Amino acid sequence: MSEKATNIVESFHNDEIGYKEWFYSNLNGYIFNHFGTAEMNKLHHASCSTLKTKKYEGRWTSYEKFCSNDLRALVKEADQVTKVGWSFCKLCEKKGLLFLR
Ligand SMILES: [Zn+2]
Repeated sequence: MSEKATNIVESFHNDEIGYKEWFYSNLNGYIFNHFGTAEMNKLHHASCSTLKTKKYEGRWTSYEKFCSNDLRALVKEADQVTKVGWSFCKLCEKKGLLFLR
């Protein structure tokens, strides 16, 4: 894998097809949900169960999602796009899925 490819952060907004394509080809990636409020702005590992809630089926990208295989790059992106703050998903953290190498 080239250094370049691992640093890419992609974003999906009202783009269900694009997001699903990314999701199913990056099952070990990371996803930052940019809802807009500090409590709701969460960074997850792609395996997180909350990312598959049936309730949101078909409108996963009604709010903006930032996706990357590079956790460090995604953290940087989250810092840049949010003005109110964000946090790691507690569930993902508990499972040890979010650690910076
Ligand atoms: Zn999570």
